Amino acid sequence: LHDVTEQEKLDAERRDFVSNVSHELRTPLTTMRSYLEALKDGAMKDDSLGPRFLSITQLETERMIRLVNDLLQLSKMDRRNFDIHPTWVDFVTFFNYIIDRFEMTKERNVNFRRLFPKEAVFVEIDEDKLTQVIDNIISNALKYSPEGGTITFRIKVLDDKIEVSISDQGIGIPKENIQKVFERFYRVDRARTRQLGGTGLGLAIAKEMIGAHGGDIWAKSKEGKGTTILFTLPYDPGQEDDWL
Ligand code: ADP
Repeated sequence: LHDVTEQEKLDAERRDFVSNVSHELRTPLTTMRSYLEALKDGAMKDDSLGPRFLSITQLETERMIRLVNDLLQLSKMDRRNFDIHPTWVDFVTFFNYIIDRFEMTKERNVNFRRLFPKEAVFVEIDEDKLTQVIDNIISNALKYSPEGGTITFRIKVLDDKIEVSISDQGIGIPKENIQKVFERFYRVDRARTRQLGGTGLGLAIAKEMIGAHGGDIWAKSKEGKGTTILFTLPYDPGQEDDWL
């Protein structure tokens, strides 16, 4: 008996990753193949089946594109081949803008509540990368929210950081899975999230991006009650006076 070495652990992780990627790519491909075969075998000429099968094929194509884009992004991050381009941004304005965009386009009856400081809070962030992180968290919150539920957005200013949270009243995440949701390809319920179009990579990417900003990200949840995703970003209140 011997301890599992760091190298063995890495090798095992790599094998899991390749097997996960293969599986994730094979599923949409086999779906597309069946529908294309059905179209070729006559469904194309059927006015009701034809358009439906084509739509499904298109949706699966989009899922694959999302997956491959997410994978490329993770691979860039693994090779340290990604830079963040931070600029000074008022986080309140920045966050409001993202939430407004969701409020304009949301198709579900879900309420938004914002608990924000009255004053501007300047932080140094890469707007594009953080937009991507927050988009993913809000999309999840919307996906898992019940009809008529409320999503609460909060910005708390602490001594040397800000704490941002997004809470939903959705299905929640079982206690034993709460850490794992930040792992690559981890999904609480594979079948359900597949239907909802997830890749299982969103929170893994978020973790890397928040880490690159010098912050932390974690989750709190109660099954059947809701989920809160929280992250921090470094904040230096003295800094503002220097350049304003
Ligand atoms: P996905 O693309 O599958 O949404 P994520 O990495 O964004 O991937 O999330 C990983 C998993 O965490 C999801 O599949 C889901 O099971 C769970 N999860 C994330 N956010 C929430 C939430 N707000 N409520 C319930 N479950 C969530």
